[in-house]
Amino acid sequence: MKKTWIWFSAVAVFVATSVAAQVTAIRAGQLVDPASGTTARDQVILIEAGKITAVGPGLAIPAGATVVDLSKRTVLPGFFDVHTHLCLNLKTQGGVGLQELLRSLLAATAIETTAYRSIEGVANARDMLRSGFTTVRDVGNAGNYADTALRRAIEDGLVPGPTVVNAGRIIAPYGGQYHGIPPERADITLPEYLYADTADEMRKAVRENIAFGAKVIKIVVDDQPYLYSVEDVRTIVKEAATGGLKVAAHCATDAGSRIAAEGGVASVEHAYRATTPTLELMKAKGVFLVGTDFTTVASHEMGMDEYHPWVVDRLKRAYQVGTPVAFGTDVCFVKEGETRGTLSIEFITSFVEAGVAPKQILQAMTVNAARLMGMEKVRGAIAPGFAADIVATSENPLEKIDTVRHVTFVMKGGQVIRND
Ligand SMILES: [Zn+2]
Repeated sequence: MKKTWIWFSAVAVFVATSVAAQVTAIRAGQLVDPASGTTARDQVILIEAGKITAVGPGLAIPAGATVVDLSKRTVLPGFFDVHTHLCLNLKTQGGVGLQELLRSLLAATAIETTAYRSIEGVANARDMLRSGFTTVRDVGNAGNYADTALRRAIEDGLVPGPTVVNAGRIIAPYGGQYHGIPPERADITLPEYLYADTADEMRKAVRENIAFGAKVIKIVVDDQPYLYSVEDVRTIVKEAATGGLKVAAHCATDAGSRIAAEGGVASVEHAYRATTPTLELMKAKGVFLVGTDFTTVASHEMGMDEYHPWVVDRLKRAYQVGTPVAFGTDVCFVKEGETRGTLSIEFITSFVEAGVAPKQILQAMTVNAARLMGMEKVRGAIAPGFAADIVATSENPLEKIDTVRHVTFVMKGGQVIRND
């Protein structure tokens, strides 16, 4: 009889302490909601098992909860970068030209091991998270599925990093994104790409990617003289959908952007040269623009100086038209004194140059990106039921957007990554 009593009380004590230990309470001096562009003052956010359970003013904080005091800071949802290449570090020698850039991409593809590429991914994922990016869509160029390994390692808690939705190998017409490949080594760009030229090859390429852990499909529409057709894009989109995956399409030209939009992709990547009618078509079809809007610095590093004014002008027109926009950077170079995170967050300066309002910039980095990724019910907002992916800044970004370049607090899935 006595033994039974001890057993019950031990269970009771265990339950009481474990429940109390699991609750975290954040005191937010200011809480920004990007969706509405409003700020609420003196809010309490309660977090349990990695998720937000309650948000409001003057909420009772349970006894034994861990309290994080951000009463002097502005709190907002973690950021998204929906166009990353975490497992790729290009050494561009300060922008010696696009040809040299492509050569260094070929070198990374042909020479680096997939093992090393995944370690690059671990370092870049850590740095992205420290800059406030709690979710990324990683769109390929990751050796032989280094991105799947990285995603799994983060999901398993082996290494810190954002939630990763990865593309695996990029599906493209013959030759991938390389020009002048030697005929003796036509496979030199494999396994980074899957060449697919017929409908059967396209369907198989999608299935192969899904089998090896891809969570989004990335295609290249217009990097060779022979483009994918609207019918090709439809074939890929349909096959991807059977596996529950969306399609992101690399399109540098206006023609490519139009084909991708008509073919029903979820997002057009780059669209450097998209005309206003094409941006209108994207809006009509609900296709996101992921502009990878190179800053002056990034354009120069990539040997693509002329691209910066193009993207600023195109961004301006996209917002005039009302094309949905999600924040994506395409940073894949290294620069001394910077991290992948600081280089990526700097891309907000292109939005500022295009006259985009702070509220809209924050929306591109949170709610819009979440919608593109089909995560709008679980990430991208601070509300009950959402993942506890939370950042804080010293000033209110609705008043001074530049403050997001220096987050002082990052929480991912309820775990504090930094608090300085
Ligand atoms: Zn890219």
